[in-house]
Amino acid sequence: MLEIGQVRADELAKKFGTPLMAFDLTVMRSILRQYTDNFKSETLKTDIIYASKAFNCKAMISLIEEYGMCLDVVSAGELYTAQKAGYDCSKIYFHGNNKSIDEIKMALDCGVGTIVVDSLPEAGLLSELTAGLTSPVRTLLRVNPGIDAHTHKYIVTAHDDSKFGMLFSNEEEIVKTIRLLQKSPNIIFDGLDAHIGSQVFDKRAFIEEIRMMFEFAGLLKEKYEITSNSIDLGGGFATFYTDEDAPIPIDEVCQTIVQTCEEENEKIGGFVNHILIEPGRSIAAAGSYTLYTAGFTKKTLNKNYVFIDGGMSDNIRPALYQAKYRAFVAGKEAQTPIKKYTIAGKCCESGDILIEDLSLPQVDTGDILIIPATGAYCYSMASNYNKLQFPEVIFVEGGEARVVIRRQTLDDLISREV
Ligand SMILES: *Cc1c(COP(=O)(O)O)cnc(C)c1O
Repeated sequence: MLEIGQVRADELAKKFGTPLMAFDLTVMRSILRQYTDNFKSETLKTDIIYASKAFNCKAMISLIEEYGMCLDVVSAGELYTAQKAGYDCSKIYFHGNNKSIDEIKMALDCGVGTIVVDSLPEAGLLSELTAGLTSPVRTLLRVNPGIDAHTHKYIVTAHDDSKFGMLFSNEEEIVKTIRLLQKSPNIIFDGLDAHIGSQVFDKRAFIEEIRMMFEFAGLLKEKYEITSNSIDLGGGFATFYTDEDAPIPIDEVCQTIVQTCEEENEKIGGFVNHILIEPGRSIAAAGSYTLYTAGFTKKTLNKNYVFIDGGMSDNIRPALYQAKYRAFVAGKEAQTPIKKYTIAGKCCESGDILIEDLSLPQVDTGDILIIPATGAYCYSMASNYNKLQFPEVIFVEGGEARVVIRRQTLDDLISREV
């Protein structure tokens, strides 16, 4: 029987109800430690920024703070949650391609340490909004090295229409943006930031990114006397969903990145002092599960459906980008599969399918179905479609479970209606 944080999964389901999101903190802590132990250098300052959009709540942010990690936020809402968690705002990196005036003001008011500037117009706005500050704000410029590394393959493209950052080939505008930041009295230009994709399996994509980033920093220095103190390489480290996935071990990818950065830095004269990474998924998915109760089953011509008490409302990823998950039945982990089931939710959408044709032992109404690795980009992308309620979220560790986000009530659902 599967245990989560040393508590039997079926007991958790019984105590907290389903759908239930459960995080085994023992597993998550081991990933956090792998990052902090291995993303280290003798010659460079290193920082790990948790990309909080993967799973953002006060308890998660406090956990991140325990490990001395920085925090990446993209909106007023994510920033507000960090503030309410008591997180040190000077360690926040504020990302986003379309920050509003109010969001930038809010970030400056609470003392956000670094703003990641995405474009020339944003640099202009920031220059105006920082005019009256008493202490300057640090900035990184989001650039686009033209590497697309989503999923199994990575490609280097000269032509990229990404909405994020500024293309290397757009050198003139990049330089103009940096000059504008540099001449603003209350802005420090600190360096470059990039993010090449998500669920990246190929280490070579990161190595290529590092080469291109340091080379570009070298060009800026040589041609324009612009010094990048920091280089932020973004996130994208893969996690394990199904047997098709072979993520690079975290210790290995961290060591490779650090070593490559040290080498590339030397090549350009060693003026970069600080490197950063921004993992999200690989942290939030670690040791996470969603527990559902199996309801009715239905046999169609080609499918054996088993219906669960959640669906695309709490996990949109299969419908949105054909994400694959595995599942098992609590108490039947050791039984041999007897047939292929399609696990479907209760939303009024035929696309509301979490897993298609998965071999499982006999599933009976009332069984607890468990889908692992749902911690990243599921709760944060959840909706109230069909007015389904957001699930309860618990952290479990050493035999103790605590609620970190309570289940939405029916009254919560209509609380903003006037
Ligand atoms: C989403 C995002 C990340 C995190 O990506 P993961 O694949 O979850 O590790 C990091 N940096 C930026 C800028 C992002 O948009």
